[in-house]
Amino acid sequence: VDPKYYNIQSCLAQTPPELFDLFCQIRDLSETLHVEPYLVGGFVRDLLLKRPNKDLDLVIEGDGIEFARKLHQVLGGKLDVHPNFGTATLDLNGFHLDVATARVEYYEYPAALPQVKPGRLKQDLYRRDFTINTLVISLSKEKFGWLIDFFGGNEDLKKGIIRGLHSFTFIDDPTRILRGIKFAVRFGFTIEEETDLLIRQAVEHGVIKELKGPRFWEELKSLLMEGKELKTLQYLDDYGILREIAPDFKLTDQQWKNLKRIDWVIQLFKDQCIVQRWLLVLMVIFANLSKETIERIANDWNLSLKDRAQLNFIHEEVYRVKEKLSEGKLRPSQIYNLLESLGSEELMYLVLISDSQLILDQVLEFYNRLRRIDVEVSGKDIINLGFSPGPLFKEVISKVKEAKLNGKVKSREEELEFIKEYLKERKGGQSEF
Ligand code: ATP
Repeated sequence: VDPKYYNIQSCLAQTPPELFDLFCQIRDLSETLHVEPYLVGGFVRDLLLKRPNKDLDLVIEGDGIEFARKLHQVLGGKLDVHPNFGTATLDLNGFHLDVATARVEYYEYPAALPQVKPGRLKQDLYRRDFTINTLVISLSKEKFGWLIDFFGGNEDLKKGIIRGLHSFTFIDDPTRILRGIKFAVRFGFTIEEETDLLIRQAVEHGVIKELKGPRFWEELKSLLMEGKELKTLQYLDDYGILREIAPDFKLTDQQWKNLKRIDWVIQLFKDQCIVQRWLLVLMVIFANLSKETIERIANDWNLSLKDRAQLNFIHEEVYRVKEKLSEGKLRPSQIYNLLESLGSEELMYLVLISDSQLILDQVLEFYNRLRRIDVEVSGKDIINLGFSPGPLFKEVISKVKEAKLNGKVKSREEELEFIKEYLKERKGGQSEF
């Protein structure tokens, strides 16, 4: 089938001037080097959706690396070249440009790394994930500002449809399943019927189970970072993906309820911290899996220590704190000691799973007031009182802090008075420190 062409010069002309200048530089250089430059992928999709995107993908029919080198000479910025892949990246003030050589890829076996061979634009696009990501804008002198559509992506974009390119797409690369869900939830698009079926078949075929390495985790993170966790998890549940990650990975009614309360809990803490919402979601959904299961998943996905820690969030500690807080009648210093080591997401998680005004009040008391309380005196003040530095200092400071948290001392003067009293009493009991 011949591609469809649409003139979108006016759309290009509406981009910010620095971007339009870059397009013109690319056009002029391509004329000199006798190559064909094409903008492809997410940038084109987002341009048509009028969503800003500073990551540009450029495919060169010709030598992509040479093109990137020459563009770097003209525009400056920071250039990285990857000769084995025929690609280069160029960081220009605010824009990130990926330059590739048009190529085809084939997979030796499902989920393997693609092998690269030289090829042309259409084949390059055919190895992409969805029609909406196969749209191309020519930046050559003759065809400047023409949209080229090989696979019907423009219509799909207008209708709001996520459509895969061929029947093996999810077998070739199961992470595309997560990408499909990501675009569906991000844009509020529908996954087309045939594509939907192919996803179900691939999952049933076991592609998720067979996945090794960190790519699935990276896509999962990126999916959760969209911030539309309810819709996302409905897809993951409906496609049976959770169950394939681990047989006992099934969200309970309580977990769904907790997910629905995430907005509410974030609102409670708002303006005070930058919350990593996706981490909170992760804590909720992995809560019922055993340590062994999580360990197995982390090994399968070959996670880094940091990622492992995120997945392996210690729920027991939060449950222990929850028990203590629910007893009530705690002094502020005790609340402080219980909550001090928890991060913001963990505090929110604690509120989420508690469903108790008493716990909420204590967490907010800690978050809004107690955690800001600091001791004003220092070791120097204790030296001035005639004591030499040693383990006693730590003890004294922690006693002052406790007193301050409990409202027994309020100012620096009162802290000093407190220390004098404390040391006097302590000296009374012991001959020396
Ligand atoms: P986002 O907006 O989330 O960054 P994107 O599609 O704009 O998504 P990338 O994830 O960097 O950006 O991908 C760039 C392009 O590479 C995509 O538009 C898509 O065409 C292609 N691509 C990325 N991952 C895959 C994949 N797993 N299989 C096929 N094509 C892919």
